[in-house]
Amino acid sequence: MTNDGLLVVISGAAGTGKGTIVERLAADEGIRVSISATTRSPRGAEQDGREYHFLSREQFTELIGEDGFLEYAEYVGNFYGSPRKQAEDWMKQGKDVILEIEVQGCEQVKQKRPDCVSIFILPPSMEELERRLRKRGTETEEQIRARLARAKEELPLAESYDYQVVNDDLDACVEEIREIFRAEKEKRAR
Ligand code: 5GP
Repeated sequence: MTNDGLLVVISGAAGTGKGTIVERLAADEGIRVSISATTRSPRGAEQDGREYHFLSREQFTELIGEDGFLEYAEYVGNFYGSPRKQAEDWMKQGKDVILEIEVQGCEQVKQKRPDCVSIFILPPSMEELERRLRKRGTETEEQIRARLARAKEELPLAESYDYQVVNDDLDACVEEIREIFRAEKEKRAR
């Protein structure tokens, strides 16, 4: 048994409210959220080093070569990866670390760290997902379509996650996830 924090992977289609959920969880003193690197361009008010580390393809490839990522994957034309060192340092400090990543990345994390906890956030329905994605208004029609298509592909993969949580009511969803954290920590303390 160690006092290391949990490594928690959270996935879900664009528009499921994942970002808001993770933001809420991050308010907890014992939780840290990994800041991913990506080759996509900043969206809306996103800032380098806050939502993402925005890198060029060359910089990203260099980091892969240095074994700098816990996992990385391509998603709708761009690369995304979880920097290794920051996450490992936080866990050693006893913090629970959240990786908000897509499904291929989750598979890699499970292989490397079988003790990780995986949570898939589901929208109440595909129609609701489309509505939320359009309401957000940060993507072009083409990008929305690509993301919806990807969401449909990913849906069956939710089965391979340890937990599936439906985001119908935000507060209830966040509470359910906090409960998962508590249960997993208790399991490990035994
Ligand atoms: P977005 O472009 O909407 O910010 O993110 C697109 C997708 O990439 C989301 O499903 C998000 O969870 C995922 N993602 C963000 N960071 C990472 C990462 O570091 N690794 C992987 N594998 N996926 C990521």
